[in-house]
Amino acid sequence: MKERYLEEDFEGFVDDLIKSGRLDEKQGGIAKRMLDKGYDSLSDKQKYVFDKAIEENSVKECKRCAIDIPWSEMLEALDNGGYCNYCQHMMEKIENE
Ligand SMILES: [Zn+2]
Repeated sequence: MKERYLEEDFEGFVDDLIKSGRLDEKQGGIAKRMLDKGYDSLSDKQKYVFDKAIEENSVKECKRCAIDIPWSEMLEALDNGGYCNYCQHMMEKIENE
């Protein structure tokens, strides 16, 4: 996932992740530091904790269409079982027909 930390909506995702309550106190503290000072300011140990927290709270690709889930849709994807917005809408449509 690390290569995707540079995407512009990543910081917004980290911010939402902190607010979502999915991170424990330690992970949340490190995530806040990352937002304030940048990923490179973290120690190796902090990077390890942060990377693991992101890994645990992200979906690699949509289960239906296999695109990379944008960070801005990641929290939703975690809640809906691993689908991008588009597929989620499609599936809801099918269910409701
Ligand atoms: Zn999809």
